[in-house]
Amino acid sequence: MVTMQLEFEQDIAQVLLTQEQIAVRVAELGAQISVDYAGKELMLICILKGANIFLADLARQITLPLSYDFVAVSSYGADTKSSGVVRILKDLDESVESKHVLVVEDIVDTGLTLRLSYLLENLRSRRAASVKVCTLLDKPSRRRMDVPVDYYGFQVEDRFVVGYGLDYGGKYRNLPYVGVLKPEIYGGG
Ligand code: 5GP
Repeated sequence: MVTMQLEFEQDIAQVLLTQEQIAVRVAELGAQISVDYAGKELMLICILKGANIFLADLARQITLPLSYDFVAVSSYGADTKSSGVVRILKDLDESVESKHVLVVEDIVDTGLTLRLSYLLENLRSRRAASVKVCTLLDKPSRRRMDVPVDYYGFQVEDRFVVGYGLDYGGKYRNLPYVGVLKPEIYGGG
């Protein structure tokens, strides 16, 4: 694998998951999903923007025919947390009716934004044959609201991570690994 020198790598305090570790785990997930969904019409639904890199890699590790689509929902606004109201900012282009839907998420943290449970309910009401969740990262110690996670790549402890699609202020999504930011970058040091 080619090692790149990224300009903003100096902002990273620690590499949590290397590019190689992620690649191995994504291949395992793809193999498991290929077994579990054999003979079924599989549709991956990627929650923008954080999960797009995971989706691209995961889709290529699944050996079944599949389709995928993208959805964007409002998240982490003060409104979302207090009211539980979630807005769909970009809806699906394709129907999910009779399809086995696997929602692809970057990280499930507190579960409090209700983003995921709202979306799952919404997909069920559109008569998907089944609705499950695959997240790259899971922070179970932070969970405050029950969210069904059917597949996860890695469980991580309570630290704010960036890279492989995950951002801080819109940056760091293109880091090929998952890392922890230096505290001074987010005003913690
Ligand atoms: P929650 O599960 O707390 O409702 O929120 C999940 C969302 O919060 C994720 O989709 C992601 O956008 C954001 N998030 C939670 N933890 C982290 C983290 O450690 N790093 C980054 N970059 N985003 C996070």
